[in-house]
Amino acid sequence: MNPKLLFWVPALLRLATVFVAGGVVWWMAGPIAGLSLVLLGAVVALFVQLTYLHRLGEWLDEPASHRLPDGWGAWTEVFARLYRLRREDERNQQELAEWLARFRQAMHLLPEGVAIMDDVLFLEWCNPAAERHLGLTIERDKGLRVTNLVRHPDFIDYIILGRYEQPLTLSLRGRKIECRIIPFENRRQILVTHDATDTERIEAMRRDFIANASHELRTPLTVIVGFLEIAMSDPCMDTATREAHLKLMTEQGQRMQRLIEDMLTLSRLESDEFPLRRERVDIAALIESVASEARALSGGRHEITVEIDGPDLMGSMEELRSAFANLASNAVRYSPQGGTIALSWRRGVDDLQFAVKDCGIGIDAQHISRLTERFYRVDKSRSRETQGTGLGLAIVKHVLLRHGGRLKISSTPGEGSTFIASLPNTSLHG
Ligand code: ADP
Repeated sequence: MNPKLLFWVPALLRLATVFVAGGVVWWMAGPIAGLSLVLLGAVVALFVQLTYLHRLGEWLDEPASHRLPDGWGAWTEVFARLYRLRREDERNQQELAEWLARFRQAMHLLPEGVAIMDDVLFLEWCNPAAERHLGLTIERDKGLRVTNLVRHPDFIDYIILGRYEQPLTLSLRGRKIECRIIPFENRRQILVTHDATDTERIEAMRRDFIANASHELRTPLTVIVGFLEIAMSDPCMDTATREAHLKLMTEQGQRMQRLIEDMLTLSRLESDEFPLRRERVDIAALIESVASEARALSGGRHEITVEIDGPDLMGSMEELRSAFANLASNAVRYSPQGGTIALSWRRGVDDLQFAVKDCGIGIDAQHISRLTERFYRVDKSRSRETQGTGLGLAIVKHVLLRHGGRLKISSTPGEGSTFIASLPNTSLHG
């Protein structure tokens, strides 16, 4: 049946029954009795309606605390419909609560900060990342104007100018925070923040590296080009001078070659395309060959000793050779004639250690933490004199990192240094 008729048909039937009964009584007992019956029927019907209206009113006031009343007549259908509506409403509310919980959890885990502001920039809500990035606390700062909370002139200008197509990078409490404002819902605005400190640092390192590498390559090139120009402008140059120039040009060419080789080695060590290939490394043979290379470099100016008292390990032979050779060659290059250099391989408490101990010039404590940075040198001219590229210890650091190890440096200026390549003992099983 049409639902609308459900209300009307029973009500009209009841009304008709009262009128028919009234008519019958009128016919049998006269008009007063008939009209009285109709009036009584109307009063009873009114009372019933008012009772249900009262119950409905009570339920509407506090739907949660009252059971939905049972109905009679058309009220049965009214209450049944209200019951269905309420169930649906409860289900919707539950779904909404679940969605909200999921949304909150996602916002909680999001590394990007999200803050919602109204049209006059009063903070309405923000996630923990935005609290971290902007130094906010939602309980404390809710309802306050964001420009009073993030008191940075660039941020205020950004908002005044409203050029939101470009993000803004702010320096806030030592970190670089990228901010972007996205208007939505006509009135509200979302402030999205991103901690770009690491990206900026990597970008700065990349810029420094390119500047340093270009500078390092330009110096020998300038020398070579200079000699070539002299040779072209003076075709009658004597043999001795020409040979001296050729010798210097070869040296500078070799310097560029070493530099490019070291740069390629570093980029290979950092690249995911060249994962570490472990093999059993014959440590005694490796260190002996590193020692003979160091002796060749020293040309008899130093005493170089080797002591092996530890097991072989699993690692990349080529990479470990490059790291150990860099440490040994540094010891030779930064030790005066007559110095002793001790290469050793030992089992530590929980690691395996390749140590290079020299009695060389030593390093001032302030430089030690920066030695593994690319192109960092304590004394630039000395490094160049000794054919250093400035990349040796950066290579050592990366090789050790790839093997799960690290470099330990201790040094006393004027007395000497000890460089320890510490490798995890687990390398044996790796
Ligand atoms: P370089 O090619 O200049 O030697 P490295 O990266 O190998 O570059 O070393 C960085 C700097 O650390 C060197 O320039 C030097 O100042 C210092 N250094 C490295 N090894 C030693 C050492 N054994 N004794 C003293 N200083 C050292």
